[in-house]
Amino acid sequence: MKRTSVLIIGAGAVGCAIARELSKYDLEIILLDKNSDVGGDASKSNSSIIHTGYDATPGTLESRLVVAANPMYDRLCEALDVPFRRIGAILPAFSEEQFEQLPGIKEKAFQNGVYDVEYCSAETLLAMEPMLNPRVMGGLFIPRESIIDPFVYVVALAENAVQNGARLMLEAKVLDLMREGDAIVGVETEKGEIRADWIINASGLYCEEIARMAGKADYKVNPRRGQFYILDRETSCKVNRIVLPIPTKRTKGKLISPMIHGNLLLGPTAEDLTDKTNHETSCEGLESVAADVRRLVPDIQIADTITQF
Ligand SMILES: Cc1cc2nc3c(=O)[nH]c(=O)nc-3n(C[C@H](O)[C@H](O)[C@H](O)COP(=O)(O)OP(=O)(O)OC[C@H]3O[C@@H](n4cnc5c(N)ncnc54)[C@H](O)[C@@H]3O)c2cc1C
Repeated sequence: MKRTSVLIIGAGAVGCAIARELSKYDLEIILLDKNSDVGGDASKSNSSIIHTGYDATPGTLESRLVVAANPMYDRLCEALDVPFRRIGAILPAFSEEQFEQLPGIKEKAFQNGVYDVEYCSAETLLAMEPMLNPRVMGGLFIPRESIIDPFVYVVALAENAVQNGARLMLEAKVLDLMREGDAIVGVETEKGEIRADWIINASGLYCEEIARMAGKADYKVNPRRGQFYILDRETSCKVNRIVLPIPTKRTKGKLISPMIHGNLLLGPTAEDLTDKTNHETSCEGLESVAADVRRLVPDIQIADTITQF
């Protein structure tokens, strides 16, 4: 039977970052995943944004962690040789109702410790983003919102952890936890049993299942699917910054963002699902992305799509 000091379940952004951080110490580490590659489920296919935390709920753990993490990315990405760009984001308002929300959004950013959000006039926003819908009434500029290649980032974290001695086990789904009396002493996987002094649950959408194995599932994960378009680098209508819609109570809405390799990302939808394995795209979902992003930038060329996910 294999043995280790630390066993991390899940090789997404969270598990790989934990593995890399712990690999700086003299510890035996196993990072395992049910999939055949690192990159996680959500981690490799999200909106690719390193957020400032301007819109997090003040006082939450999310707010504290996102606000603290954002300034670390310059050095982290340099060390890992991961492309990362601080391109900033704009949040344009197109109606009186949206315009009236801007002070509240700026105040929330301030409460989160994100002090550099600025008001911009319609003229300034159009000068920054000439393709923006000319009906814009004004908006906000969030200078430190940034973009990254989320897949390359997770791979780089995992590679660095492995260089430092961590062991990676793929296609090794955790089926159950091993117990001795009240103590949890290891995991039972598709590739056999592993004893561990410490087990870290970084299994993303499935963290509730792992927590339930430990008898500690006092929360519920509500899976949401987000559908995206990726447009060709040569598409004629591009933006320089992330263009965010004014959020609603339920969702941050569908954005337009330059991608790190020059493509354009449009989306996501926000669909509540019961099946965590459902990664399908749908006509309805993608049509809603196209309709919503055209309100931000009317000339966006959906015909230049190279893929959807
Ligand atoms: C549409 C969308 C857009 C988003 N955009 C952004 C964004 O722009 N910026 C941002 O910061 N965040 C964004 N997020 C959130 C972000 O993607 C997630 O918070 C993050 O990826 C979670 O990482 P994770 O490592 O916890 O989970 P995951 O990436 O899901 O990784 C968990 C891993 O655990 C493994 N696993 C699960 N169960 C087991 C098991 N039993 N045994 C072994 N392995 C197991 C899985 O295979 C998976 O690889 C977005 C999310 C969505 C849905």
